[in-house]
Amino acid sequence: MRPRVLSGMRPTGALHLGHYHGALKNWVRLQQDYDCFYFVADWHALTTHYEDREVIERNVYDMVIDWIAAGLDPEKATIFIQSRLPEHAELFTLLAMGTPLGWLERVPTYKDQIEKLKDRDLATYGFLGYPLLQAADILIYKATYVPVGEDQASHVELTREVARRFNHLYGRGSDFDARVAAAQAKLGKDDARYFEKQRKAFGQDGSTEALAKGEAIVRKAAETLSPEDTELLLGHLKGSGRSVLTEPQALHTEVTKLPGLDGAKMSKSYGNTIAMREEPAQVEQKIRRMPTDPQRVRRTDKGDPERCPVWEFHKVYSDEPTRDWVVKGCTTAGIGCLECKQPVIDAVLKEQQPWRDRAEAYLTNPKQVHWIVEMGTERARTVARQTMKDVRDAMGLNY
Ligand code: ATP
Ligand code: MG
Repeated sequence: MRPRVLSGMRPTGALHLGHYHGALKNWVRLQQDYDCFYFVADWHALTTHYEDREVIERNVYDMVIDWIAAGLDPEKATIFIQSRLPEHAELFTLLAMGTPLGWLERVPTYKDQIEKLKDRDLATYGFLGYPLLQAADILIYKATYVPVGEDQASHVELTREVARRFNHLYGRGSDFDARVAAAQAKLGKDDARYFEKQRKAFGQDGSTEALAKGEAIVRKAAETLSPEDTELLLGHLKGSGRSVLTEPQALHTEVTKLPGLDGAKMSKSYGNTIAMREEPAQVEQKIRRMPTDPQRVRRTDKGDPERCPVWEFHKVYSDEPTRDWVVKGCTTAGIGCLECKQPVIDAVLKEQQPWRDRAEAYLTNPKQVHWIVEMGTERARTVARQTMKDVRDAMGLNY
């Protein structure tokens, strides 16, 4: 009964070191403790890349290979492709009916992205609606947690509002409270009180610990509870209450923001990336060509690491003795910039090596990746179908 986590990535190009440090590394960690659902967000890719179908086609399976190469375990995590599950689109459509336009227009990333991606025409219905599609992606799996960076927190908030509104409009009948009370009574007085306490704690700040404790109480009473009671209490604990859809919590995790070769955030659109499985010779060349402190023109000039993009890489890739060596060498002109770059080159190549090794098997045998995605998609489909059944029931769409 691990809590479910949901996250996706858009197949808009080869994954780079920024994606690894900012998201994928965390995904790998999460699969130990959570029931992780990770999907290839190909429809989301189309919201900005609707004119580039080849880009998406090329990157779908390649991205899954990157995921597995980085350590995702298909036995632990459910890996699937969004477009293979039309249920996402069905839920999106149904949610769209009652979602006020203003909610979408006010999402902070909306105007931001339109400003940033000036070379694309994003005055489309799909682009405006993409946070709602994201809400459908999350709600359809009744995910408890969504790992997010700061910029995406507003999307989880929107998802919660959409779920609340749906539950308000179509939530289960008024006998719900009575049924919960009856099930809770079976826990015994003390355990019922303790369960309530954990439920409130989880509702307030999404505490994993409170969730686990609440679940343990329900598990402990497994013999006295009917399966319906159990489901009811677990749903109640997770905040779905009398509701059909579960409000997810944002899971704030520590991730590294990785700068690119020029010191700005590593991003495809800035052309400053190193791909996860880029050729070693090319990696070496890219790092050797990185700009350094612009005021350190000659070898004998003293430098300041704070003005140097390579230093940002040392912060991520080097241990303390190496960083001390860099600071000392740079500020006294004791080492040259190429010398300073060597440990970064070594560290990046070392990090990438297991990815290349693991990817090899899948590149030579693509059927294996297809099979993994097939399995994951079918697992996801079971859950998505059940939710859609509940949703159609709640909305009275079962003629
Ligand atoms: P790019 O920004 O390279 O064009 P993208 O726009 O397709 O890629 P994003 O949506 O920006 O992809 O990123 C996908 C995930 O990777 C997000 O969780 C994002 O926070 C993370 N990410 C992307 N670039 C970086 C980076 N340089 N450092 C840390 N995390 C990053
Ligand atoms: Mg980006």
